[in-house]
Amino acid sequence: MKKVLLVYTGGTIGMIQNPLTGALESFDFDQLLNHVPELRQLPVDIATRTFDPPIDSSDMDPLQWAKLVRIIDDAYDAFDGFVVLHGTDTMAFTASALSFMLEGLAKPVILTGSQLPIGMLRTDGKENLITSIEIAAATRPDGTPRVPEVCVFFHEKLMRGNRVTKSSADEFDAFESFNCPHLATAGVDITYNENEILRRTPGTFRPHYTMDTHLLIFSLFPGIRPEIVKEMLSAPTLKGVIFRTFGSGNAPQQPWLSELLAEATRQGKVIVNITQCTGGCVAMKRYETGLQLLEAGVVSGHDSTVEAALTKLMYLFGKGLSSTEVRRQMALSLAGEITL
Ligand code: ASP
Repeated sequence: MKKVLLVYTGGTIGMIQNPLTGALESFDFDQLLNHVPELRQLPVDIATRTFDPPIDSSDMDPLQWAKLVRIIDDAYDAFDGFVVLHGTDTMAFTASALSFMLEGLAKPVILTGSQLPIGMLRTDGKENLITSIEIAAATRPDGTPRVPEVCVFFHEKLMRGNRVTKSSADEFDAFESFNCPHLATAGVDITYNENEILRRTPGTFRPHYTMDTHLLIFSLFPGIRPEIVKEMLSAPTLKGVIFRTFGSGNAPQQPWLSELLAEATRQGKVIVNITQCTGGCVAMKRYETGLQLLEAGVVSGHDSTVEAALTKLMYLFGKGLSSTEVRRQMALSLAGEITL
């Protein structure tokens, strides 16, 4: 029997409605099988770990990510796959962070959650949970794991973790990976998109625990003020910026803006160009409005999500790399996070 470790960090999925008061309460995860008896039908041996106390995903941070990495690292040899139950609000950040922190991962780590608590009649949590466990335990005919990477499974779609963005606060279909095809679709059968799934060599797993958060996400808008941008970019502890630009990576042609960006680059700050569009890729050579950014030393974020680019910077600076090396590695795909 395959063994899956289920880690409950918190979030809506792990809640149940108190029949007397109607209020939502976290339920005791050791009692999971009593609340979701369907799990007994799965030919999978499930063990559980719970964050104590469970947290709303707005309270997730790099220390909690390191806690998850520790749990997975400690249990790595004993389990075939991992399912992480997580609030949906910051799931895309956690999935992206784990994809870098779990370097060389050769087993499935599937994050999931739900929009309605598992203890409510119309919950989407049961299907998300049960299918995630199935995927975490799935193997190829040669016995190797079917999906040896960090993924998000939500509403019938398996997506690469560092490609997803939460796209709806209300719908069951709450996540999308705009720039990467789905890795699997769960209909009557679970159909895997073999060509898109990463190939990994077992024995290369190397967990990382340190993330550097001296970063900023800054979004352009028409009429943006020089004195405010100057204040932000000159923060002495700032190491990197996710710079959200228009369209294919364009910005207003204001000399003050390129001068501030060039100055920040000279100081060793890494400025990564990510489009404000949900789909598509940065191409700074396409228009003059983009070319000026390239000339100011801005690095292309390619078709990365904000979540992936940000956590990649955290990871690279967390390794203590120089800004020249960080700039070099931002152009590489470390865990399938950009299309090259
Ligand atoms: N606020 C909750 C969280 O992200 C929402 C959810 O679980 O979906 O933890």
